[in-house]
Amino acid sequence: MTCDAGTVVAAVRAAAAAAAEHKTELTRLDREIGDGDHGENLARGFTAVVAKLDASAPETPAAVLKLVATTLISTVGGASGPLYGTAFLRAATAIGDASELDGALVVTGLTAARDGVVARGKAEPGDKTMVDALTPAVQAAAAAADSGGDAAAVLSAAADAAAEGAEATTPLQARKGRASYLGERSIGHRDPGATSASLLLRAMADAAAG
Ligand code: ADP
Ligand code: MG
Ligand code: MG
Repeated sequence: MTCDAGTVVAAVRAAAAAAAEHKTELTRLDREIGDGDHGENLARGFTAVVAKLDASAPETPAAVLKLVATTLISTVGGASGPLYGTAFLRAATAIGDASELDGALVVTGLTAARDGVVARGKAEPGDKTMVDALTPAVQAAAAAADSGGDAAAVLSAAADAAAEGAEATTPLQARKGRASYLGERSIGHRDPGATSASLLLRAMADAAAG
């Protein structure tokens, strides 16, 4: 299987569909420990991304990811907009001008994305943020690539680990973002951003698998 610009576009469109499909669920999670806008924020951003993709045909995987980054940064707002924007931008920069992504390049992109979120938001694993989905995702992706996985297999391993990581945020106390204002009352609720990160990765993995 090849993961060229067209495949990355299909993956991003699948992520947009997932953001729309899970909008209510993500907003409900954010209502419990935040301000109840995470689903709307992401759905608005990805609707804008799809409109941009309808109007242009980026020629490399990195160009697709860069379009996603700039669109999310200008439309999502809140904490998650700049964080997801940074993630996609760093991934784009890290994969460079490659015309196709193999498993190793997907690891490179995911690692840069996670590192970008950490650099921008200063959250560590265990702080109950999207970093708790992205960090296990990067580890699982690297293991899958080491055992010869292609781009889709690596993304799928990342998505599985991100889902477990998101689930594991429930008992944590938030130490970053709006949820941290709740202190101990943030315990017992799943983090919205970790949940959205896992849903976006799952959608992209399934699309890349074809
Ligand atoms: P806001 O909190 O500004 O309304 P969103 O609701 O869109 O923004 O996104 C909230 C999510 O952003 C949280 O669930 C968390 O996963 C993530 N988040 C918030 N602050 C940080 C941070 N410093 N580092 C990483 N992720 C963060
Ligand atoms: Mg919010
Ligand atoms: Mg908000």
